Amino acid sequence: MTNPLKTTRRNLGEKVNDFLTSDMFYTNFYWVADWIMTGLCNLACTYCSREDIKTENIDYWQSLERIKKIKPKALWVTGNGEPTLVSDLPGLLAEAKSSWNPYITMVNNGTNTRRVFRVLPHLDQLAVSVDGIGNVNVETRGLDGDKVVQHIRAIHQRIQSDGLPVQLVTNTVVTTENFKWANEFIRTVNGISPDIVMFMSPLLPLDSPMSVVSSEETHNRFSDWLRDTENSYNVISHFGHFENGFQPEIVCHHQYFRTVIDYHGKLHPCKPQLPWNYHMMNMRQMVKQKRFVDTGKEAAKMFNTLVTNRHNPVCHTPCNCHSYLDWFFRGQDHPMWRVYGNVYKERFTKKEIDKAYRFIVKRINPEFPYEKLMPLLKP
Ligand code: SF4
Ligand code: SF4
Repeated sequence: MTNPLKTTRRNLGEKVNDFLTSDMFYTNFYWVADWIMTGLCNLACTYCSREDIKTENIDYWQSLERIKKIKPKALWVTGNGEPTLVSDLPGLLAEAKSSWNPYITMVNNGTNTRRVFRVLPHLDQLAVSVDGIGNVNVETRGLDGDKVVQHIRAIHQRIQSDGLPVQLVTNTVVTTENFKWANEFIRTVNGISPDIVMFMSPLLPLDSPMSVVSSEETHNRFSDWLRDTENSYNVISHFGHFENGFQPEIVCHHQYFRTVIDYHGKLHPCKPQLPWNYHMMNMRQMVKQKRFVDTGKEAAKMFNTLVTNRHNPVCHTPCNCHSYLDWFFRGQDHPMWRVYGNVYKERFTKKEIDKAYRFIVKRINPEFPYEKLMPLLKP
């Protein structure tokens, strides 16, 4: 039998959480939204945590209606699965474009070439995930890497022949295993076209044993390789430019500018679920141990994080996807901005720019130069 008290508590917790993550309470500028649109997938990658489902009952159009309300400047169409398996995809993307014209990126797992062709006219960027050529990709993603290379070549030809303004990029999760074959992969993709940008990003979390930046030593090796490779090829890494040395944790600022949208169109900003759960867990432990003074201190800390200074100060799970924003806010020139600066170019009103500027200077970087935001201003 259900414990009625437990049910009430959970519902109350959910309500509190909904309030804390609502627009009323939590600043989010919605520069970018990751739309996790589907759980369907035709691959079974070794590192994937998705549940293996064969069908799903999702009203994608309703999700889109919810996204329209926040009108993110950039829409990252991705999934806990493969977006091209959604049959309405071309229509959904066309509707997003005609409704508020976001910059649209779609992530694709290297399959369904013909379906990708159908959505290309609605995209600004296509990111093909691939871990290496031949067997290297088979090992982790169960798909011959050479077939993915053919897929990339076909898409590149289609973009050229149709004169589409779509940027083609590859996404590679670099581990201690596929790193051995990274140069071969880079030469192969570069052979298709030197214009294809190759994102080579270390496996997360950064301190996982398979990550190429799990220790100071491996991190230095990866950084040296990256510096050399960047000079000759169109290669960029989200992490790896550690001016301050090895950093397994990061201070995330892009949490204020990015949100995740789940299958049902529900928004999931990073903050404040993480500290909320974290502090509650600590407090429960302390109460069990009868450490009541510490419990009070923890409650004060939680109040500070959730109410006074609404900020998730350190993220233990840095995410690759939009870390380029952090470098931008810190006023540092990161190669990522070469690609992503264009995403936000001329998409903001003066009012939006001023609001973001006030926030950046107050909460992130007091030295941030206003002029850096000028390219983002609508003409
Ligand atoms: S393609 Fe993506 S969603 Fe599909 S199994 Fe691989 S990692 Fe998971
Ligand atoms: S780094 Fe952490 S807090 Fe920042 S956006 Fe990613 S998951 Fe969220």
